[in-house]
Amino acid sequence: MSIRRLPEDVINRIAAGEVVERPASALKELVENAIDAQSTRILIRLLKGGLDGIEVIDNGIGIPADEMRLALERHATSKLPDNDAIEAVTTLGFRGEALPSIASVARLTLESRTADSDSGWKIIVDNGHFEKEGIAPLPKGTRIKVDSLFARIPARRKFMRSAKSEYMACHDVVRRLAMTRPDIAFSLEHDGRRIFSLNGGESRQRRVAALIDRTLKDNSVAVEYQRDQMQLEGVASLPTFHRGLADHQYLFVNGRPVKDRLLIGSVRAAYHDLLAKDRHPVLALFLTLPNSDVDINVHPAKGEVRFRDSQAVRSLIVGALRESLDLSGFRSAQPADV
Ligand code: ADP
Ligand code: MG
Repeated sequence: MSIRRLPEDVINRIAAGEVVERPASALKELVENAIDAQSTRILIRLLKGGLDGIEVIDNGIGIPADEMRLALERHATSKLPDNDAIEAVTTLGFRGEALPSIASVARLTLESRTADSDSGWKIIVDNGHFEKEGIAPLPKGTRIKVDSLFARIPARRKFMRSAKSEYMACHDVVRRLAMTRPDIAFSLEHDGRRIFSLNGGESRQRRVAALIDRTLKDNSVAVEYQRDQMQLEGVASLPTFHRGLADHQYLFVNGRPVKDRLLIGSVRAAYHDLLAKDRHPVLALFLTLPNSDVDINVHPAKGEVRFRDSQAVRSLIVGALRESLDLSGFRSAQPADV
């Protein structure tokens, strides 16, 4: 057989394997797009953990009708600066892969309206195939519906877990993103039930407590620390408030949720002599550092990052947590093992 290029829909479906592993990963992309669109209000509706439906409605800048088809094409983005410098990207996305990937493994309905157009426009794509488009009544913003995810890919669908565990993964995604932006109002509904509805413009402390545990507010310290060009802020539980699992540790680098071993290890080091071995603190920490000191694109979907100076990051986190806890009166018996 001779060499030939893969057809576009096959390429998209292969890429979808990376971008859309499960409902929660599709949801993450859609909510990030809503944030990138400067929305002040984002509503998320899920059916059966996202397996039967994901809907994200925002009041952001919208997509011009004549660009909507392009938005669904691979590697098409409005987020790359004019000089093409990816280091200068300040949005959560810029690869132009999410919408075409999702549209290649589901039925996607995209409706959008910009501030200066008289009506909205709607496009439906079913498993990579354009179905129809036309005028749609819509306030300013974007509304995306994803139905029948993986319905045409039985091998994929089979690997989905229960609606309950897919829902928990979706909830986790929304929770993390909502923590990064207390200025934006977020609502989450599941199977017609309201899970939460948060006003925009809250303080970070309040937002974090509302999303993790309201009692955290009285059982935590505020972390605010600056060293060289790095800054750490957030909320960390007192050693008297702990969990049996480390599943309430929310870590962010330059505004993005991450799951990084170095950061998790630093948190453990900071609390190591304050908590029993099988107990874990509850916290949300936001690390900010120059983009040149961190590579956030190692594996964006998995939240892996690489730091230029990981020792400095570790020392900052341990130092900031120890100092914040010390100030609260929890003086440790021995210096932290940095
Ligand atoms: P990326 O976010 O990497 O640019 P996507 O495939 O997620 O790629 O989206 C493609 C383009 O569609 C975006 O660059 C943006 O212009 C537009 N878009 C997607 N979602 C929205 C939204 N909610 N509001 C406004 N524009 C959007
Ligand atoms: Mg995107």
